[in-house]
This record gives sequence, structure tokens and C-alpha cells, in this order.
Amino acid sequence: MFESLSDRLTATLKDLRGKGRLSPADVDATCREIRLALLEADVALPVVRTFIARIKERAKGAEVSAALNPAQQVVKVVNEELVGILGGETRRIQFAKTPPTVIMLAGLQGAGKTTLAGKLAQWLRGQGHTPLLVACDLQRPNAVTQLKVVGERAGVPVFAPHPGATTAGEAEGAGVGDPVAVARAGIEEAKARQHDVVVVDTAGRLGVDEALMQQAADIRDAISPDEVLFVLDAMIGQDAVATADAFRAGVGFTGVVLTKLDGDARGGAALSVREVTGQPILFASTGEKLDDFDVFHPERMASRILG
Ligand code: GDP
Repeated sequence: MFESLSDRLTATLKDLRGKGRLSPADVDATCREIRLALLEADVALPVVRTFIARIKERAKGAEVSAALNPAQQVVKVVNEELVGILGGETRRIQFAKTPPTVIMLAGLQGAGKTTLAGKLAQWLRGQGHTPLLVACDLQRPNAVTQLKVVGERAGVPVFAPHPGATTAGEAEGAGVGDPVAVARAGIEEAKARQHDVVVVDTAGRLGVDEALMQQAADIRDAISPDEVLFVLDAMIGQDAVATADAFRAGVGFTGVVLTKLDGDARGGAALSVREVTGQPILFASTGEKLDDFDVFHPERMASRILG
């Protein structure tokens, strides 16, 4: 991801290096190049506009101040603004004062929620937590089994409805077909067994639809999560903004997890989502293995893009 954007930005900024001072025309030409590079990378237009306006203002200021090395100043400004659109500071999970901390995952089918549940569980375990995974994706035929598989790999128990269970509170699970009941029972289970974090996997559809949103909103209302993480496939390009908007309006979320950052898409989703939704990116997923996962650091991502 980001290879061509990174190449173009680096080349554009390199062109400035030979210049002692930057004229307003130099700044304009550089901004034009950056604008094109961002648009080609599928970054949302409003985000590109704001970004360029900020760079222009600050780069021209740098020129007026007759700094020692104006080209380096522009590079610094671009870097800082890139860190800014990626969220600035690293935002950590907000743990509840009274456990369990409840983390709900939402997103389209195929975004990588179930895989992420396993990654998050493993990561939480590594941080000394005692997570419980709760399987509320009862839509996709294999989702519960898949969550059990990733849970086992992560060494984290999975609370799931078992075939035949019909009422909340049954030994291993609750309310087959009723994700809200399963979610509620999962939280009770976590309290009873003293898990300090609960990760709730929910169903997704291929496209955004009313029923999906309602179900996610019902689960949210039933369990009052401390964090709702919107899981976004970074490969979906321009659709990312509309999808994020739909989830923001339908369910609301407190943070974003970007998945498939290892893909070869152009990366615009990753660069747009923070600015468009106003919510921070908390984690990044970069592959199918449980280890391909980390806390999202805006500065590191910006440095990677600028080469
Ligand atoms: P869900 O429908 O949202 O639960 O999505 P899944 O967790 O089932 O993931 C859908 C597909 O994407 C699976 O084949 C995963 O192995 C794959 N996947 C998930 N996260 C990543 C990632 O970060 N990188 C890559 N390359 N594949 C991923």
C-alpha cells in the first residue's frame, strides 16, 4: 500500500531540494503535484482540499521567513500535516474504570472483523488482559466456527451460541439466532468469570443495509460498549468514505481499525477516514496471521509514506 503515493511525494519533494529559496510559484507547483498524487491514491476530495490549503499556507509562511533550507521546511510541513490527517497522537483503547471493558466490532462483511477479533484478543492477552470473545455474527454461516478457530489460536475463550440452545443463560451460550441475547449473555459470562475485556464480533453485510445497522445498534444499546470499533478494509478505495458515513450515522463508533494495509490498493481510505469521520484510527491490520497487527501510529505511517 502507498507505494505509488510514496514514490510521487518523495519525487516531488526531492525536486525542491536544489532550490535555495522557494518562490510562491515553486510552492504552487509542489502543491499541484501533491494534490494529484493524493487524488490518484483515492484520498477523498474534501480531505485533499483541506490538506493542500494547509500546506500552501504554511509553506508560503516558511518562504517568507527566509529559513535556512526552505525545501526541508516544506518537507517538514508536509510530514506534519500528514501526521495530522492520520490523527496526530496515537490513540489508545479506553479501558473501563470498572471491568469488563466492552469492545464491539462493526463493519461490512469481509472487512476482516472476525480475523481482527482474534488479533485483538491475542494483543490484549499480551498486554496482560484476560479477554473473552463473544460471537454475535450469526448471519454468516461459518462466522461462529471461524471465531472459535481464531480464539483457539489466540488462546482466548469464545462465548458462542451452541446448536440447540434456545434461551439466554444456557451453559455455553444463549439465544441462537438472537445476537442481542448472545451479546448480553456474553457480558454476563465475562463478569462471572472475571474477564476484564470483552470483544464482541458482530455481523456484516456485503453492502450497507438497514437491517444490519439496526442489529448493530440494538447490540450497542444492549451492552453499552466502551469502544465501538469500525473495521474498515483499506482496499475498498473511494467506497470507504460512504461506508464510514453510513456506520457513523447508523451505529456510531469511537475508533477505526484499518485492515488489509498489506494490500496493493492505493491507500486513500486510510488517509481519508480520520478526517472524514472525526474518529481516530486505533489499530492497523497487515495480513492474515494473528501477529499481523499493531497499534496505529500516525507518525510512523506518515514517515513510511514520505519514504
Ligand atoms: P469479516 O466478514 O468482517 O468477519 O471478515 P473476515 O475476518 O472473515 O476476513 C475476510 C477475509 O479477509 C479473510 O479471508 C481474512 O483472512 C482476510 N483478512 C482479514 N484481515 C486481513 C489483513 O489485514 N490482510 C489481508 N491480506 N487479509 C486479511
